[in-house]
Amino acid sequence: MPHAQEYSRRGRLRAVNQSRTVIIKVGSAVLSDAQGLNTEVMSDLARQIALVRNGRGDAPQRRVVLVSSGAVAAGRAVLAASGQRPDIADLAARQAAAAVGQGQLMRAWDTAFAAHGVNTAQILLTRDDLRSRERFLNIRNTVAALLHWNALPIVNENDTVSVSELKFGDNDCLASLLVNLTGADLFVNLTSAPGVRTADPRLEPDAPVMECVEDVGSLDLKRLCGSKTEAGSGGMYSKLLAARRAAQIGVPTLILPGRSPHVLTLAFGLHCEPDLYLKEDSDGPERRPPGTWVQPLAHAISRRKFWLAYQSEPAGAIVVDAGAAEALLRRGSSLLPGGVRAVEGSFQKGALVRLSHEGQSLGVGLSNYNAAELKKIMGRKRHEVAAILGDAHYPEVIHRDNLLLDAAV
Ligand code: GLU
Repeated sequence: MPHAQEYSRRGRLRAVNQSRTVIIKVGSAVLSDAQGLNTEVMSDLARQIALVRNGRGDAPQRRVVLVSSGAVAAGRAVLAASGQRPDIADLAARQAAAAVGQGQLMRAWDTAFAAHGVNTAQILLTRDDLRSRERFLNIRNTVAALLHWNALPIVNENDTVSVSELKFGDNDCLASLLVNLTGADLFVNLTSAPGVRTADPRLEPDAPVMECVEDVGSLDLKRLCGSKTEAGSGGMYSKLLAARRAAQIGVPTLILPGRSPHVLTLAFGLHCEPDLYLKEDSDGPERRPPGTWVQPLAHAISRRKFWLAYQSEPAGAIVVDAGAAEALLRRGSSLLPGGVRAVEGSFQKGALVRLSHEGQSLGVGLSNYNAAELKKIMGRKRHEVAAILGDAHYPEVIHRDNLLLDAAV
């Protein structure tokens, strides 16, 4: 086995064995078919998740938080059975279908987990809930109490109250925010794909699955995901974005084929010898560890910067000149008014904004100025800013402490 492959498999084995708090996200395409929820698939996943919680012993060893989609899919099937055909391109219809389906989804999970003696707990969240510090702490306390009781929190977006700017966009994003909230040490994303392929499977159906991704930031996402590279559009793009966020706080991600038999117990070394994938002859297809392993980054960002960068969608954008881009990227500087070339969108003071230079995204940060003020002072020197805005102004447009370069947005 090549050295790099062995090295990554050892890292994967160690991280999986040592994991104690795991976010497992499962998508609608895994849980449902045209007829609605597939209870067989759900029962089998519940069986495997119960084993993952227990590890190799009897006492629960891992805390698991499940992020489950499927409310809209379940609701549509129920409605179809009574002759209703909601148009899911319509946000209100999606929200209403989710309201019909969420109860079904929880009932199905509850039944599936009861067979293994696991109590479930429903948590519905909007992005706004995580933006407010007070709510963030309330959610964290609730999740901590549930995990302390060995209950299984099952989280979904609260589709009924979400409007477009409040939406997580998709449950991949929600799951990545929960990695931070729970202090998880492993993120597992169960999808309908076999893992991350080396090219867009719609163009190259035989593109092989990558066993390991060292840094999502260095992948050519256009080639891998084709045109589906809008946040919130689901698909592999949003999974890679979520994995990249987790990697930034030092947490690895497993992207796994959710319907592949025994996928979780195989991935956690519970279905086979734990070191099976390290044996000499283990690079044949049947001896490959399932899915794709996304490594954590060596230099983790602080949880505060993570929260700052990902708690909301950027409200606008600031285009900077070459000098400012250089200062931000190479010297760790703050952004000053003189380096601002253009301001896009209308945002409030304190808003999260994107930073870019010549079409390249540089990162995100919190703006000390609203868009209108910033337009008045962009490109100006400090004394000119004072003359325009008076003495009570900030020297920086974005302070470096409130800036995340290379953000996964
Ligand atoms: N909250 C939606 C549902 O349960 C799914 C969102 C997603 O799949 O990302 O149907």
